Amino acid sequence: MGTLFVISGPSGVGKGTLVKLLMREDKELALSVSCTTRNPRAGEKDGESYFFLSREEFCKRKDEDGFLEWDEHFGNFYGTPKSFVLEQLKTKSVILEIDVKGALQVKQALKGSSVSPVLIMIAPPSEEALATRLSRRGSESEEELKTRLERVKYELSNRDRYDYTVVNDDLGEAKETLQKIIETEKSKRRF
Ligand code: 5GP
Repeated sequence: MGTLFVISGPSGVGKGTLVKLLMREDKELALSVSCTTRNPRAGEKDGESYFFLSREEFCKRKDEDGFLEWDEHFGNFYGTPKSFVLEQLKTKSVILEIDVKGALQVKQALKGSSVSPVLIMIAPPSEEALATRLSRRGSESEEELKTRLERVKYELSNRDRYDYTVVNDDLGEAKETLQKIIETEKSKRRF
């Protein structure tokens, strides 16, 4: 049986890039594919980017306890499919890349089961560093930037609830730290 790794971190911290690198280098890892009710964007394939469901299908699965966690963003539902994750875990370790709220819900949902998730927070070197990075992108209005920075504070204020925090100052170093954590946790469960 594999280990379940839940990776969170504020937007702009580089967690998507880190997860991509991990997946490329470790073929024994599976990335969980979420379900959503939003429409596919150009280039997105069903079962790869997301499992695209109708609202009816999503609600049916939700009522059947088919999600480890779910949430609504921008008027659409998103959820982590329980059966997909548990099935993958039979042969591989699985990575969930989800926000703090989702991560804590997953931990709660699995309490008392044989799956004990390892929660990893990707953090910026400092809040100021991330704030500078986000404002330099220049893609957000003042108001959006303020909301994002509040969100950053909220996410980072939960780091004590995580098993590990990895600071992404240098991408290569952060990747190596993550790989070491994954190897350590995988081997703990082998014996
Ligand atoms: P997008 O539609 O841009 O792909 O994602 C919108 C938001 O949904 C993002 O904040 C993303 O993190 C969140 N999201 C994606 N999958 C899941 C999921 O399985 N569970 C939860 N709670 N949020 C998700």
